[in-house]
Amino acid sequence: MKRIGVLTSGGDSPGMNAAIRAVVRTGVAKGLEVFGIHHGYQGMIDGEILPMDARSVSGIINRGGTILHTARCKAFMEAKGRALAARQLAQHGIEGLVAIGGDGTYHGADKLHAEHGIRCIGLPGTIDNDIGGTQYTIGFDTALNIAMEAVDRIRDTADSHDRLFFIEVMGRHSGFIAIMTSIAGGAEEVLVPEEACGISTIVERLQLAKSRGKTSMIVIIAEGDEQGNAFAVASKVAESSEFKDSRVSVVGHLQRGGSPTAFDRILASRMGVRAVEALVEGETGMMVGIQNQEMVLSPLSSTWEKRSEFSPDLLRVSRLLAT
Ligand code: ATP
Repeated sequence: MKRIGVLTSGGDSPGMNAAIRAVVRTGVAKGLEVFGIHHGYQGMIDGEILPMDARSVSGIINRGGTILHTARCKAFMEAKGRALAARQLAQHGIEGLVAIGGDGTYHGADKLHAEHGIRCIGLPGTIDNDIGGTQYTIGFDTALNIAMEAVDRIRDTADSHDRLFFIEVMGRHSGFIAIMTSIAGGAEEVLVPEEACGISTIVERLQLAKSRGKTSMIVIIAEGDEQGNAFAVASKVAESSEFKDSRVSVVGHLQRGGSPTAFDRILASRMGVRAVEALVEGETGMMVGIQNQEMVLSPLSSTWEKRSEFSPDLLRVSRLLAT
């Protein structure tokens, strides 16, 4: 194998650039020619494929987003679209691919290999931290730190005005960011999709906190929680309790951008190195993950068969320390 490609696909996450840099520089160090595929699978179909060298990834380790841009591509869901993409790769002599993204991206990579023999290695790039086969995904730590900082700032106002705040954080169907933000930010309550929690339970917990002398309170809500978004929860709580005068804040896309933390830069760098090594070793259909501080490979299929979930013990810790 002489030529490999690298792309980012699905949602962007902070640290993707560090991963791209690691893939390019490791490829160059191993005597490979590395091509950047812009706009994910759409760019693969459209032939947005450009050579990269060590200098083309200078000065990006500290930048959020992805210099390769990212996209979602319906055409790649069909065999016809993948055939067009494979033809473009063949024209460039590309035999191996590092795909940085989530499980949708891996589905595509898996099919590209099965149908056209392109060797594919996945890297987990998502802030949600919900991909099986790895304890951490690239971008999670940065998103968590941004959410925690938001809670710290809102806490100042909540304390000053003796107020109740509902703060919504990202994570789609996963409560990873929410539970970690709750512990790190010292929140009084947390709502996550992994745990059914009725409004009456939330109200009881807030009343208990008030009876213990708390004058301000923060409730963290995962965006995928069954009770709805933070506005919905605030209004349901207001309807059924004395907590009528609360405020709502949605951290939103602030969590996806900005300079990655040291943890994410190092994770992405290690994963990028391992991805290219794996391709050179002849591996395919695998994702690079981190387990107990070591880089590990697991089949792409296992990443969507079993999602990564947080330990229920984190909920216990969060509630115990919220007293
Ligand atoms: P994120 O976690 O940010 O959503 P993702 O990789 O899961 O990242 P998706 O939008 O699900 O994001 O997938 C990215 C792209 O991968 C899709 O736009 C599509 O081109 C391709 N893809 C997704 N699912 C499949 C599939 N079942 N078969 C072929 N290609 C797929």
